[in-house]
Amino acid sequence: MQVNSQHDRAVLNNKVEMPWMGLGVFQAREGGEVERAVHWALEAGYRCIDTASIYGNERGVGRAVRESSVPRERIFITTKVWNSALRNGNVRKAFEASMERLGLEILDLYLIHWPVDIAFVRAWKVLEQLHRSGAVRAIGVSNFQVHHLEALLRSCEITPAVNQVEFHPYLVQPDLHEFCRANGILLQAWSPLMQGHLTQVDALGRLADKYNRTPAQIVLRWDLQHGVAAIPKSVRRERIEQNFQVFDFELSAADMAALDALDRGRRFGPDPDRFSF
Ligand code: NDP
Repeated sequence: MQVNSQHDRAVLNNKVEMPWMGLGVFQAREGGEVERAVHWALEAGYRCIDTASIYGNERGVGRAVRESSVPRERIFITTKVWNSALRNGNVRKAFEASMERLGLEILDLYLIHWPVDIAFVRAWKVLEQLHRSGAVRAIGVSNFQVHHLEALLRSCEITPAVNQVEFHPYLVQPDLHEFCRANGILLQAWSPLMQGHLTQVDALGRLADKYNRTPAQIVLRWDLQHGVAAIPKSVRRERIEQNFQVFDFELSAADMAALDALDRGRRFGPDPDRFSF
């Protein structure tokens, strides 16, 4: 897998192209904070923004995209349907509300945010309809383990294009990654920077010195060389810019393996088999 330019794209299983790197905006405050972050990201070259209805900042994301000089069709926007809509059977209404807040005609990627019991099978039917109607270019899931995907694949007509999961050197999930690869589902890393804890990982510091990069750039490059898309979050301009400078260097096979070997099944976020929200 060679991703050596910010213009390279991941080709999803329905041929839609998605940027490998996007800006995550979880915990970016609605209004000025998220608008500035999206604006700086687009200036830095990002063409993918990841939000969710539960983040409460879809309006700011939409405003920043509309006010940008980058044409809308060059920007890939993801949002997600929250668990309450799955439980209440209100997925279509939730989608329409997200689109109203974003101020968009068409969405690039709509994800089921969490695998809520078996409600996700019913919700998926609605996502399939949204995709067929042309309202959404690609549909996918988030926080799905292999058994959730197996249950979905048994009944779905459209295979998810993306599975967005927690992924970093402490949580490599080789079985999940292999299952997704075998079924044409692209893995996208949330919390790729370990929610900021990456600065405490000695191996990342050593590789940062070796390659004359930052620990964040090392870990994001590791994602790309694994064929995993990533959505690092920052609301600081210099970090937004720095986190995107990952297309012009290559980690050696030995250094990739050294980072893989840090895996300890450690989550910084909730466990998809044990969440209670
Ligand atoms: P990240 O791993 O992206 O880490 C974000 C934290 O790291 C922030 O505190 C940020 O602070 C800090 N940071 C950013 N850049 C650097 C850097 N270069 N060096 C050191 N620290 C840095 O965590 P997130 O949990 O935010 O995950 C990323 C995105 O993934 C989210 O924003 C969201 O879009 C998505 N996500 C999806 C989930 C899902 O269930 N589908 C769950 C969680 C996240 P600062 O902003 O101050 O720079």
